[in-house]
Amino acid sequence: MSANIATPAFRQYCCVTCGMMYDEAFGLPEEGFPPGTRWEAIPDDWTCPDCSAPKSDFVLMDE
Ligand SMILES: [Zn+2]
Repeated sequence: MSANIATPAFRQYCCVTCGMMYDEAFGLPEEGFPPGTRWEAIPDDWTCPDCSAPKSDFVLMDE
């Protein structure tokens, strides 16, 4: 892992219901979120594109 980079590390969030991953580095272009979109920038009423779980059902992947 490269921890000493100038930009804050991108994080990954995982849907607890279906396991779908959201990676800030890649965004979700098909959902209108370009690469680099931070989790905080995603609307609170956004739902999982795979299972329609609410954003609050996503958990931060923290290794
Ligand atoms: Zn899901």
